[in-house]
Amino acid sequence: MKSFIVKFDELISQIRSYQEQSSQIKINEPLSIKKICKNNELNDNFIYSQLLNDYLLQIKSISNLQNELNIICEFENDCSSNRTLWWYTRETFIYHLLNKAFRIQNKMLILSFSILIHTSTNKTMTATQNSIEQSFECGICHDYLTEVRETPCCHQLFCFTCIQQWLNQGGSCPQCKSTSLTENTLLKNVVLQRIVDNIELDCPYVLAGCSAKVPRCDLENHKQLCPYSTAKLADKQQQKLQKSIALLNQYTETAIPVSDNDLYDLAKALHEQYAYAEARKCFGKMKTKNSSLEIVILQAHIERDDGKYTDALRLYDQAYDMTTSPSQRIELLLAKKRMFITVPDKSIPPLDLSHNMSCRSEN
Ligand SMILES: [Zn+2]
Ligand SMILES: [Zn+2]
Ligand SMILES: [Zn+2]
Repeated sequence: MKSFIVKFDELISQIRSYQEQSSQIKINEPLSIKKICKNNELNDNFIYSQLLNDYLLQIKSISNLQNELNIICEFENDCSSNRTLWWYTRETFIYHLLNKAFRIQNKMLILSFSILIHTSTNKTMTATQNSIEQSFECGICHDYLTEVRETPCCHQLFCFTCIQQWLNQGGSCPQCKSTSLTENTLLKNVVLQRIVDNIELDCPYVLAGCSAKVPRCDLENHKQLCPYSTAKLADKQQQKLQKSIALLNQYTETAIPVSDNDLYDLAKALHEQYAYAEARKCFGKMKTKNSSLEIVILQAHIERDDGKYTDALRLYDQAYDMTTSPSQRIELLLAKKRMFITVPDKSIPPLDLSHNMSCRSEN
């Protein structure tokens, strides 16, 4: 259950042999569940609460004994299998007891609480992502819990600010309507908060290409540093554009001859960065400006995307005449067609809604 158990199989075999031994020799320790169950038809919770009472009396360090005894009573009445996880993580001596049992690999203890451990492990394994997320959700804002607070009346979980606001508006408990709930009676749940803080979430810039899984408590930090953040990407784009413009200046201002291929690549890059005026400047220096199909098509795309439709149409037609390849011609027709989709067609009058309305009222 806990990550520090590395050799799980070994632990299980140890527990098995311990189980066999303990059924042979009489031991001066609390009875295991198995032994009690043999002769009784008591419910599990009752047995657990007896075991817990037994352990509680053995632990000298418990400071508030009465309080813990009350918790055991509550446990006996409340620990249905749906609530096992909650009980397992609740900040009580039960949690410390079970964690310690795993840490020091106390076989007796693990065996005694085997069903409880089994149920909560099973719950963790079989719970769907949805139901796990629901148990970490605030009952008011339905986001992941922040500064978890638990109501003493019905053990519902809320963000501190959410429940604080609710109570300030004179509200009773949002779940059970108890009127005795106040800000001062709210309980902290450190264990659950730790779990929620460590839930791994997708980076919010996942669509921009970030594949990072980030613990929730690091999310704000990651958002600032993520190389895919909107601000960082805009920065990168700006830098790229500046680089392209610097290259353009270098090409146009120096006397060193530049190949049409290099000019084409630069024009293409500038087009992708929406720098249409700069892209156009590249064509001025090209020798094959009107004889290379690729270059004519790029010019057409640039004019189209810059809204210069007459120029674009002329260039698409020019490119169409330059090729005999059917697939290329279809591509050019499609590119031309895209222009007509984006330009509103003024030949079709807009729907006259007032006319339609009056027709309907006449009927
Ligand atoms: Zn909330
Ligand atoms: Zn309540
Ligand atoms: Zn990221």
